[in-house]
Amino acid sequence: MLYIHIPFCRKKCSYCDFYSIAYSRNCASSYIDVLCSQLKELKGNFSTIYIGGGTPSVLDKRLLMKLLKSLRPFSKGVVEFTIEVNPESLDNDKLGLFVSEGVNRISIGVQSFFDDKLKQLDRLHSSRQAKDAVLKAKKCGIDNISIDLIFGVEKETLDDWQKELEIAVKLPLKHISTYALTYEKNTALWDRLKKGELIALDDEITSRMYQLAMDYLVRHNFYHYEVSNFSQAGFCCEHNLNYWDNKPYVGLGPSAVSYRGGVRAKNTSDLGDYVDRFKKREPLEVFAEKLAPQKRAKETAAIKIRTKAGINFKEFKEQTGVDFLSLQGPALEELIKSGYLRYCKRSGEKDGVCLTEKGFLFCDTVSASLL
Ligand code: SF4
Repeated sequence: MLYIHIPFCRKKCSYCDFYSIAYSRNCASSYIDVLCSQLKELKGNFSTIYIGGGTPSVLDKRLLMKLLKSLRPFSKGVVEFTIEVNPESLDNDKLGLFVSEGVNRISIGVQSFFDDKLKQLDRLHSSRQAKDAVLKAKKCGIDNISIDLIFGVEKETLDDWQKELEIAVKLPLKHISTYALTYEKNTALWDRLKKGELIALDDEITSRMYQLAMDYLVRHNFYHYEVSNFSQAGFCCEHNLNYWDNKPYVGLGPSAVSYRGGVRAKNTSDLGDYVDRFKKREPLEVFAEKLAPQKRAKETAAIKIRTKAGINFKEFKEQTGVDFLSLQGPALEELIKSGYLRYCKRSGEKDGVCLTEKGFLFCDTVSASLL
């Protein structure tokens, strides 16, 4: 798996605490030069490529072309090549370029199909642009289209959310990711909340919205394969499935993480520092740790439990070398007693464990208990 981070955005969304900086052509150009040099030196074959952000589609066509050309030695033969885009910076020229360079999956940051909700989130696009982006991508020949949707903004009702879902399932989508709005420190929404300028939605309504998404999307042929992800048959995100399997990956770009040979390393988060370090031939990583087998096994459990398939004991042992029941015995019993997990079986009696419906609602708690 190869991940490339594009840390630029036109404007900060009110809820976002990811590392991103305002787009400038000069800065982006220097950064793409660095990425291209890194790709020239990069060795290995990758089954998936994912260009994420930030907003990769904010790059102009020439910069995108440069980056995609540098990816050619890796993009031939990948099973999945995804690029994240935002509706306001997507056009037919860029889409044509993506298709000609082998991109076969597009992930569109729609977030909502309603203008007032988009405004609350400080998104730059309109609901019309969101729908158009999906239709344009389809028309340009990209079949595997995913969108992100957020639920739980101030004053949003279950009916509003149902309408979003109704619009989504009528579009030619293969994949939908849904996230409950969270108020993160250092975001504009957090400030507004603290100043009393808005009132957060009740947790119970947010939970019911999540349950509604689970019911509604499943009834409309979207398989719920991970806590936040739904796909039509055969269109799970391969890149993320590998990630949830704790398989090795390489991450390029500021704040990107790599996991190779049992070592996890994180790059410097600051773009200027990243470019400087690269030019001076200094290490880009600011943190690296060799994961002990038990720690790696626990992390694998905490990530893998988020999938609908859950953890199969035999596969877990083969993958990590650690026996799941010996590793997680006490935590497991507690989670089962609390109704978050249940035993499941694929080929034999109780040969695995997975989330219950209640467990899906409290997935972060479950994951944390397994660490
Ligand atoms: S476009 Fe995405 S990465 Fe950029 S500020 Fe908005 S949510 Fe964050």
